[in-house]
Amino acid sequence: MKIFDATKVIYEFKSGLDVIGEVNIGESFTVHCNDCFSQQVRHENDIISNIDFSRVNPATGPIYINGAEVGDVLKVDILDIRLADQGSIVVLPGGGLLGDLVNKPATRIVTVKDGMVDFLGIKQAIDPMIGVIGVSPGAKQDGVVTGTPGNHGGNMDTTDVRIGSSLYFPVREQGAMLALGDCHAVMGDGEVCVAGLEIEAEVDLKVSLIKNKQIEWPLLENDKEFMAIVSGETLDDAIYEASKVMCDLVERGLGIAWNDAYMFNSMFVDYKISQAVNPMKTVRAVVSKELLDFTKI
Ligand code: CA
Ligand code: CA
Repeated sequence: MKIFDATKVIYEFKSGLDVIGEVNIGESFTVHCNDCFSQQVRHENDIISNIDFSRVNPATGPIYINGAEVGDVLKVDILDIRLADQGSIVVLPGGGLLGDLVNKPATRIVTVKDGMVDFLGIKQAIDPMIGVIGVSPGAKQDGVVTGTPGNHGGNMDTTDVRIGSSLYFPVREQGAMLALGDCHAVMGDGEVCVAGLEIEAEVDLKVSLIKNKQIEWPLLENDKEFMAIVSGETLDDAIYEASKVMCDLVERGLGIAWNDAYMFNSMFVDYKISQAVNPMKTVRAVVSKELLDFTKI
């Protein structure tokens, strides 16, 4: 299986980047990901304010997907996420929702063993996820740093980006130019302190293409649900745009009037906070696959 090591990374999703390799449709491959600090935080005396911030949020890539053309949709199946045996989490003044209440930076190292994290003796099952995953925003849009989410994906910090899920991205540059990093062993919706359990990981993926299909924002599918993952300047902006995206999908997917699609959204769609701490905030609109099938729209 093809392996992309974690030495070649980007800090901005933008068009025209040099690729680190290519994969074919249907081919499984492995991507090694640094943790979001590029492993600069290894001990509890490694203080976040002392690290080199130019190396925060590396994304391994971009990987060229053979056959991906502008106007296609790239489907990315997350087959496995294997974690290192320890991760880190930090707080810092000004960081996260309550950054004004943080007096001094602090670091915790959390071990991962036998599928469990151990935080101060509190043990919980791991739930590995990918924080940053995306494609080129294309030449018509500005580049987006890897710490910011957008309609290309990026730092969506969405817990549903986990093993067994599939993501759908709009292809805006030939080859799609996939990159990913910032894996978490566990994270709560909101990511309130600005970090999950940040950890190195090896991610197994498989990609496929849907030709000539238009989507504006990343979509996600798991065994029970479809969701649209939408970001905005504020949570209000993000949920407004997510509602518009989902109303449009329902209107077209079910062939009903827009007003009815709006009612459908209010009754049957859950709007969940993905993260409230990045430069753009992210929400996801979640609908049961029993009610709507994105793949047929
Ligand atoms: Ca993140
Ligand atoms: Ca992170």
